[in-house]
Amino acid sequence: RAKESGRNDIQLFTPAMGEEARNKLIRIEELRRAVERDEFVLHYQPQKDIRSGNVISVEALVRWQHPVEGLLLPGAFIPLAEETGLIVPIGDIVLRKACRQARAWQDRGLPALRMAVNVSARQFTENSLTNQVASALQSAGLEPRWLELELTESLIMRDVEGAIERMHELTQLGVSLAIDDFGTGYSSLSTLRRFPLSRLKIDRSFIADIPSKAGDMAITSAIVSLGRTLELEVVAEGVETEEQMHFLTGAGCEMFQGYLFARPLPPREVEDLIVRTAEQAGNALQSS
Ligand code: C2E
Ligand code: MG
Ligand code: MG
Ligand code: MG
Repeated sequence: RAKESGRNDIQLFTPAMGEEARNKLIRIEELRRAVERDEFVLHYQPQKDIRSGNVISVEALVRWQHPVEGLLLPGAFIPLAEETGLIVPIGDIVLRKACRQARAWQDRGLPALRMAVNVSARQFTENSLTNQVASALQSAGLEPRWLELELTESLIMRDVEGAIERMHELTQLGVSLAIDDFGTGYSSLSTLRRFPLSRLKIDRSFIADIPSKAGDMAITSAIVSLGRTLELEVVAEGVETEEQMHFLTGAGCEMFQGYLFARPLPPREVEDLIVRTAEQAGNALQSS
């Protein structure tokens, strides 16, 4: 039928499919414009160190301030950005903003904070990444040791040798590296130890069903002891309840990120939270 109708074979698409394709094109165009106009904002989710009670790190999480639809979460546009390659300029915008924010907080005299930034697959394999990072640090005037890049386990396991090389380039700049969403891939101990890493972030899916799923609890404990063996800090992501935190603390986990403590917040609210937390931690120290 396609042959018969010649140029009209577009009729083979159902109206619904046509619309879907059209919407996608519109979305791509909007995303391109968003890059030009810089419609991206960063929210920051604190990570708390249970020993000191302090926020010692924040993770930058990108949002798209869409002119009509309002604030969009990464799930609504990061996959398309990956697919189209727009993640590369978006990633650059994110890096620059995050570095500038970290430096601004330092200048305002806030307690020292590490800034964690997510790096996507497409960005990681792009040759320009190391220069991008160096340039973002330099123009913000941020010392590299305050920046951490989060790479996913599936990303670095895809091409282990290539990843190791790229990771060394990055750590030579002086930034630190974390594995995000850890436990969902299939890293072996012997492979893991070859990566120049500072931290493992336990995937949220393992935390969600604590304490009802014994299997998830066993995996979580295993990741914490793996971290200890490899001398890596372990961060639990997606901690929502006291029960989860209690279990994790018992398992030896010392760093927490999750709604229990704080949601991703705009910069001003992060500031307030950090100041408040530092005061509480200071008071606790004095009274103990
Ligand atoms: P991620 O890096 O694993 O970030 C953690 C995600 O879990 C965030 O979602 C955060 O809001 C959410 N989260 C944190 N604590 C809790 C909790 O207690 N409960 C629940 N249910 N969720 C929690 P968000 O902001 O929607 O980001 C989703 C993902 O999008 C991120 O996962 C990351 O993979 C990606 N992403 C975010 N920002 C960027 C970016 O700048 N660049 C790239 N390439 N990816 C990004
Ligand atoms: Mg992350
Ligand atoms: Mg994660
Ligand atoms: Mg994730």
